Amino acid sequence: MKLLQDLSFIEMKELAARYGEPAFRAEQLYSLAMRHKEFDEATNLPKKFTEALRKEYFATALEIVETYRGKDGAEKYLFALRDGNVIEGVYMPHNYGDTLCVSTQVGCRMGCVFCASGLNGLVRNLTAGEILAEVLAVNRLHGGTPDKRAITNVVLMGSGEPLDNYDNVTKFLRLVSDERGINISLRNISLSTCGLPDKIRALADSGLHVTLTVSLHAATDEKRSALLPVNRKYNIASVLEAVGYYFARTGRRIIFEYALAEGKNADAKSAEELAELVKGINCHVNLINLNYVRERGMRGIASGEIGEFMKILEKRGISVTLRRSMGNDIGGACGQLRVKYLKEKDATAAKNATCGEEE
Ligand code: SAH
Repeated sequence: MKLLQDLSFIEMKELAARYGEPAFRAEQLYSLAMRHKEFDEATNLPKKFTEALRKEYFATALEIVETYRGKDGAEKYLFALRDGNVIEGVYMPHNYGDTLCVSTQVGCRMGCVFCASGLNGLVRNLTAGEILAEVLAVNRLHGGTPDKRAITNVVLMGSGEPLDNYDNVTKFLRLVSDERGINISLRNISLSTCGLPDKIRALADSGLHVTLTVSLHAATDEKRSALLPVNRKYNIASVLEAVGYYFARTGRRIIFEYALAEGKNADAKSAEELAELVKGINCHVNLINLNYVRERGMRGIASGEIGEFMKILEKRGISVTLRRSMGNDIGGACGQLRVKYLKEKDATAAKNATCGEEE
């Protein structure tokens, strides 16, 4: 089975033509897909057409199966994909616009030592339509339509490495910014990467000029390789070269993410090294206090120590903020909700198996 939300408007026109339907049907179909509606809700399409499509396509790529609401207004969702895999997303209301953090893969193969997303490795890439459906489902949940958006900003910072799924992610960026669809401006989209230089260059050349966020997390290769295994393949110098290219092509300021991990990268010396590394770059540093992930065992630092770290950067003229961690009461860092869900499912399956044996 295929996914209707994977199709661009042009591809939908081809689909309508293949079924012998006039071009305006493609517009109706596209509108259905962008509103995250099911075929049953397509009151303006001939039943014969939707019944035929139903055999070949799912109208929506996913369903929201659980919603967790935080005290700060953040919401976390578990989405069930059509093959039974689950992924997660986070909604964060802000005064500048309401943001959705989307996943780009089921699991991840980058193996960062503090992250929950990679605990079970990579299961598969998400298609463009699946990533888009995360946005469209939550937009609908909050009463939005393509003309009156409830989601105005998107960050690709959920589970997965977006640049390890380059083709689907770039198609997603085209779909989500399409004027005929939900039309979210590329300026309101941030893509976070662990730093794959060739793909950063390709993105710069693609014309899809989103804000590039690079997960730096350490300023020497020795420390970074201990946190991000990918650094052994692409060292800091090669990432920064690609970052320079991105800035030259797009003029967009680069964001560096730096998660503070106790005993690893959060001391005064590490702050000095970071300041030295980024001082010539037009950038902003986003500090995050590491979210505790039980399976990983690493911890963040005390708030006083964060202040000390920030002061060192500020004194060296580096633009820096501490990222407000939203939704902490509803499931912690990326990937944790899915891991918890899978464990509970396993536990239920095990319990049911035991019950079965007893009967
Ligand atoms: N693969 C992309 C997106 C990952 S998630 C990337 O590497 O950038 C977005 C950010 O959250 C990344 O900077 C990631 O390193 C960070 N992150 C992952 N686990 C974390 C944790 N337990 N605490 C704090 N930040 C974490």
